[in-house]
Order: sequence, then structure tokens, then C-alpha cells
Amino acid sequence: MSVIVREGEADLGVLDGRRVAVVGYGNQGRSWALNLRDSGLDVSVCVRADATRDAAEGDGFATLDLSDANEADVLCLLIPDDVVPTLPLAPRADALVLVASGYTLAFGRLDPACDVGMVAPRMLGPEVRRCYEESVGFITAVGVHRDATGHARARTLAVAKAIGGLRQGALELTPMQEAVLDLAVEQALSPVLRRVSESFVQVMLEEGVPIEAIVTELVLSGEVERTYRLVRLEGGAAQTLYHSPTSQYGQLSRAGRYDHLDVAATMRELVDDITSGRFADEWDAERDSGYAQLNALRDRAMAPEILAFEADLRSKLGEGSLGS
Ligand code: NDP
Repeated sequence: MSVIVREGEADLGVLDGRRVAVVGYGNQGRSWALNLRDSGLDVSVCVRADATRDAAEGDGFATLDLSDANEADVLCLLIPDDVVPTLPLAPRADALVLVASGYTLAFGRLDPACDVGMVAPRMLGPEVRRCYEESVGFITAVGVHRDATGHARARTLAVAKAIGGLRQGALELTPMQEAVLDLAVEQALSPVLRRVSESFVQVMLEEGVPIEAIVTELVLSGEVERTYRLVRLEGGAAQTLYHSPTSQYGQLSRAGRYDHLDVAATMRELVDDITSGRFADEWDAERDSGYAQLNALRDRAMAPEILAFEADLRSKLGEGSLGS
């Protein structure tokens, strides 16, 4: 059973008078910096590029070089996980280093001798800011990797509270648990969902259903999205009655029809690549090669004809197309 951390357990007072360095000013970095400052903390932003420096200064932050983060009491490393090990990091022994994902800690890519914690929002970077401004909560995974001072947990929870990450509660996880879950969703769950959708499209095309109608059913109508929303808000079982009796009978009576497929076997292989560190080694090699494979895969996934088809369909049937 995992531990749920509530906002009342965190005390911002432990960060009184402490200097917080936000390293990186991208998706998470900008939101964290703004939220931490609005929570009353002393924040500076450490960046490498001029344009990013201008953006942070435009938001009213003092900016410093990356190596200046080593002088801070709290260092929030908010740059891509594969880049973290390349930072010129040498934090003080009494500092707290925080990451927004368990990845670097779980796979031995980061291990400074000071306090080290994780505050991993289950929320896209810009939404971390939007939720804070709207006083809405978002779930966060928090954990301590090393407690060198005896204050690592208290300080980690204080930062989680200051970004707005405890309003809805947080799950206390080890960095490895967080990383495995996160990567498994991306590498083991997402590909099988994609495969299932592709099979569905293929079978519907064989039945003579137009591609536009299939894509609309799966995505553009928003029905699937809204059904998942109901699952989130009311529960998977409780939302059953919103479906027609025909739908309920069809769904429930056929629920076991794919049970003979051993999906879990392939999933286990993929998850083993993650837990063994093989994926982390592969991703490091990819970084060192200049992301050649990633660029090729991305080009294929975002081929011009696919983008054009999607744009055309969205303009005809997507949100905002009404009346046009
Ligand atoms: P981004 O890709 O948005 O980070 C961009 C920032 O990183 C920029 O400031 C960029 O600087 C800097 N950066 C990139 N490369 C380098 C480099 N070689 N040296 C120095 N700075 C560099 O990252 P995210 O915000 O997406 O991710 C940050 C962390 O948050 C990661 O650990 C990620 O796993 C985690 N996370 C992200 C989520 C998300 O929504 N994206 C969700 C939950 C967790 P410059 O502008 O100079 O290029």
C-alpha cells in the first residue's frame, strides 16, 4: 500500500531564507519557477541559452549560469532527463537536489552526496502553472533518494507544496517505482494501445466504413475522451449506466474475448528492458549519437501526408469546425 501525503504534512517554513535555483526554463522549469515565487520563495533561474535567459528575465526572474546553481540551497533540475548527467553539478553537502522524474536517480545517472529528492508532477509542464493559478490540485509522486541532513523529506515536501503539488495529495514512491511506472506507460502500454487502434481501423475499413468516420469515432467526436473523463470523475464501474443497454450488454458479454492473447508476456519483456537499465543505456547511446534514431522515428511518425490528413479532418470535423 502506498503512502498518500497531504498538504498539511508539508511546512514551507523549512525553506525560509533558502535560495532556490531552478535549472532549465522549459515545460516544467517555467511553471515551477513561477509557482515557487508565488509561494514566497527566493527563486533564481539558471540557464544556458540567451533566448531562454530573456524569457526568464521577461517573467521577472534573476538569471544565472548553470554552474551558479551549485551555490543554491535547493537545486531543482528541470531539464531533459538525458541531459541531467551532463550538467556541471557540484552542490553543497547541505543542499537539496530535486528532480521532476525518478529516471536519473533510478538508473544511477545522478547521485550527488547531498539530500536528493523527487517531486514528479503527474501533469504536463504548462498545466502545473495553470492548475496553480486556478487553485486546482494535481497529483504528484514524491520521494527521497538520499537523506544526508535529516531534513530531506521535509524539504522535498515543502517544495512539492510550493509548486501546488500537494493540493490533491501526493503518492510517496521510490524514484525507481516512479520511473518504471512512467516509462512502462510510454513503452509497454502506449504501443499496445496504438496497435489495438490500428487493428480496429483495419477491420472497419474492411467493412467499408470510411476512414473519416472511423477516426471521428475514435478521436474527433471526443466521446472516448469524455468517457475516460467520467471514469476518472465517477469510477469505471459507476459510469456503466451512462451507456445504453445494448452497449452495456455488448461490452460486458464480450469482455473476455481477447483473453487468449498473452499481452502481458510482451509487456514483461518491455518492462524488463526498463528495470534492467537496458533502456537507459540505449537512450544514453542515442543521446551520444546526436539522436539520429529519434529523428528518423519522429520523421516517420510525423510524415507530411499524415499531418496534412489530420489537419484536413480536424478542419472539417474537429472542435471549432462547426458552421464552417
Ligand atoms: P524541457 O525539454 O521543457 O526542458 C527545456 C529546458 O532544458 C530549457 O531551459 C533548455 O534550455 C534546457 N536544456 C536542454 N538541454 C540542455 C543542455 N544540454 N544544457 C542545459 N540546459 C538544457 O524539459 P521538461 O520540462 O519537459 O522536463 C524537465 C523534467 O521534468 C524532466 O525530468 C521530465 O522527466 C520531468 N517531467 C516533465 C513533464 C512534462 O510535462 N514535460 C511531466 C512530468 C515530469 P535551452 O532553452 O537553453 O535549450
